[in-house]
Formats: sequence, C-alpha cells, structure tokens
Amino acid sequence: MEDFLTKASNYYAATANHPPSFPRLKGERRCDVCVIGAGFTGLGTALELALAGFEVIVLEAEAVGFGASGRSGGQIASGYSPGMIETEEVVGSDVAARLWEFSELSKEILYGRISDYGIDCDLGVGELYAAPKKSHENWLKREREHCEDRYGYAGYEWIDTERLRGMLGGDRYLSALYDREGGHLHPLNYTLGLASAAVSQGVQIYEGSAAKSVQQEAHLKVIETESGFVKAEKLVLAGNAYLSAFNLGQKNRFIPVSSGILATEPLGEVRAREIMATTACVADTYFDLDYFKMSADNRLIYGGQDLSFGPASLQKNGIRQNMLKTFPMLEDVRIDYKWEGLIAANWRKLPDVGRIGRDIYYAQGYSGQGVTLSAAISRILAEAIRGEMEKFDVFGRIPHKKIPPLPFLHRPMIYSLLLWNRIKDQL
Ligand SMILES: Cc1cc2nc3c(=O)[nH]c(=O)nc-3n(C[C@H](O)[C@H](O)[C@H](O)COP(=O)(O)OP(=O)(O)OC[C@H]3O[C@@H](n4cnc5c(N)ncnc54)[C@H](O)[C@@H]3O)c2cc1C
Repeated sequence: MEDFLTKASNYYAATANHPPSFPRLKGERRCDVCVIGAGFTGLGTALELALAGFEVIVLEAEAVGFGASGRSGGQIASGYSPGMIETEEVVGSDVAARLWEFSELSKEILYGRISDYGIDCDLGVGELYAAPKKSHENWLKREREHCEDRYGYAGYEWIDTERLRGMLGGDRYLSALYDREGGHLHPLNYTLGLASAAVSQGVQIYEGSAAKSVQQEAHLKVIETESGFVKAEKLVLAGNAYLSAFNLGQKNRFIPVSSGILATEPLGEVRAREIMATTACVADTYFDLDYFKMSADNRLIYGGQDLSFGPASLQKNGIRQNMLKTFPMLEDVRIDYKWEGLIAANWRKLPDVGRIGRDIYYAQGYSGQGVTLSAAISRILAEAIRGEMEKFDVFGRIPHKKIPPLPFLHRPMIYSLLLWNRIKDQL
C-alpha cells in the first residue's frame, strides 16, 4: 500500500487536518447499507443515509481520501464536463435541464455541508475557464448564452483580455468565462471533514478493509474482507476509478485516466499575487486541460497531463513544462510535491449512476467533475435507497457506452487521444 497519508509526496496529505484513523474490520457486523469506498461519493451517501435513520458501514481498502478525493484539483464547477450544449445534444433538452438542476443542487449541498459541519478546507471563491484562442473563446461565449437562456443562470461573467491580464500573469490566455458560483477547496480536508460529519451521525468507517466479494444470504448481502464480513440489505459501490474487485458489468463503462498535479514551494504573498491576483481557480479549455489555483500558503497547485517522454522527476516533468507555458516567470521556482491520481472518464463525459439487480447501487465516471457532482449524486443515491427513484431514474436516460474490455489497450488509447488532440489544439 502506498503510504498516502504520511508520505510527503502529496501536498494535501502533508497539510491534512489531523487525519483520524479508523479501525480495520474484524469479525461480523450487521447494518442496513454497506458502502464500499471512503471518498466524496461513499462518505456523502453514508452521511445522507445516516441522516435518514439508516445504519451504515463504510469499508475503505486503504485510508479515507486515498482515492481521487484526496488527490484532486478540488475545483468546484457548474454544469458538466462536456459543457451544457454538448450535454443537451447527447441527452435531449428535458434530461439536460434535469442534469443542470442536479448540478445546481450539488453546489448548494457542497457549500451547505462545509458550513453546517464547519469543515475547514481552504474554500476559495470563483472559477475561471480560460480560452487560449478565438475558437475556444467563441465556444465559452455560446456556453454562457446557453446557460443563461435555457436555465436562467446568472453566475457567469465574461472577462476580456484586458481584465484577464489584471487577474493572471503571463499571456497564454486570450480571455475567460468567470463562474462566481464556482470555487475550490482542499479536497483531502473536505473528505476528512465529510468522514467526521458521517461519524457524528452514527456511520461506522473501517480502513484497511478492502471488500473482496459479495454473496447473497437470504435477503442479505454478505460483503467479505480479509478479517471480517458485513451483512447488509443494500450495497453501494463508491470505489469509482479505484474500485478493486466487484466488476458487475459497470466497470466496463469508463477508463481510468491518470492526471498529475504539482505544488511549488511557497511563493510569498507578493509573487503569488503577481501571477494570480484572483481568488479563483483556473481550468483552461484545451482537450488535455491544465488546471491551477493558489493554495492557502501561496503555493501554485498546477495539474494536467504529463505527455512528455523519458524519465520524469520532481523538477523535470511534463506538468512543470505546462506550468512554464502559462507562467514562464516561474522558471526558478522549486517544485515541492508531485502526485498522480485516477479519473474515471467515460465516453459521454457524464456521470454514470445506476443499480445492479435490486440492491446494489453505484456512482462513477464523473469525468473530472466529481468534487461538485458527487454532492447531489450522494443524496440522490440515498433517496433511491429510501425508495424515491425519481431523480435517480434521470441518470438511466443518459446513453452511456461500453468501453472495450481490454485494459492493456486503455493506456495507449488515452495517450494517443490526448496527443492527437494536443496537436490539433496547437494547430
Ligand atoms: C488528479 C485529479 C484531479 C482532479 N481534479 C478535479 C477537480 O478539480 N474537480 C473535480 O470536480 N474533480 C476532479 N477530479 C475528480 C474527482 O476527484 C473525483 O471525481 C472524485 O474524487 C471521485 O470521488 P469518489 O468518492 O467517487 O471516488 P474516490 O475518491 O476515488 O474514492 C474511492 C475509494 O474507494 C476505495 N476502494 C476501492 N475499491 C475498494 C474495495 N474493494 N473495498 C474498499 N474500498 C475500496 C479506494 O481506496 C478509494 O478510497 C480529479 C481527480 C484526479 C485524480
């Protein structure tokens, strides 16, 4: 096991708020719902179920936040990965309107949890979608118009070149769409806060307790770990791209795509404001997007794809090269942390939420937008378990596609796709 919460490779792990440790499952436990995976989805669902009076056990193979939730860029966005125009083309206007409603609900739940449970997670305001060229600028403007006309969204604001120069150092980007309801957080501290909130409502969490198999015993599911088992009426698979075992068909609907992030040394207040005179985080509109923000201690946290060839090190890697394209003035800056994580990406770039048989529920494939969307989806999963299927059933109307079940081809496929799109973007 990677010693994720103590090894100083991940900035979030190094600045975690006293991570609590939870015991390993030993012997037999009985509950209403067993949740596999202690990230945003699993903990959010456990919390919502506990609030509704259910007895819930969360099994985590490693440690709380070990998966994407403790490694992510932590960017809070409105809408969905492909944008709402493409979403509407894929699912039709009625389903798109419901999905938009859920993404709005997600922000409300996310910000509500942070304030209700006093989660200390460096919450920052605003997100900028930065366009490096005219065609991307036109797409962002169309997205803004679409969201205003169709959904009455008033959170977007156009930032022209002159204003953008006052917000970001460097001249890589032409203009940007500002989302004042977007933002960013310290994802591991948010996950740890969610775990505490869930425990405060009676949820039991077991770490180092990988679920290995599920058997049916009368009306109960029996979930086995190395040193014990849980008997539950319902099961939630919340392992997303990290889910080990349990391929009940749903794992053939996404590809785990690696994304990397680095954190610079602290830049000091003055230099930090020179390159980012905004509290907002930034995601650009390239296919293999770069995303970045300033941390609470003035480090630039910069993420994206490392498509460089040859051996990578902390000071020499593709993500640092990307960072220098955006901020050439950071050439002399030391990189203190670099880590990677897996994103569950699917063909439609839309969340995949469903049910296997009567009693096994799953949510996966947020395609890089799980910080926000997992909030409403965890509530919608909990509602479905309580028998309220209306919102849950909307996800069944997304025409997800299967991915070829040849894992050894996934890496070269993704790499070629990213490289091809990078070349197209450069042209
Ligand atoms: C580098 C990176 C940057 C990202 N940036 C952003 C961003 O800026 N904004 C955004 O919205 N999204 C972002 N994402 C995506 C986002 O982080 C994910 O969508 C989200 O964290 C998914 O949460 P989850 O709870 O579903 O899964 P995870 O957080 O991956 O949790 C799954 C958990 O299940 C556990 N598990 C797996 N199998 C078992 C088993 N058999 N038994 C017990 N436990 C098991 C794992 O150990 C893991 O802890 C990013 C992801 C990465 C990797």
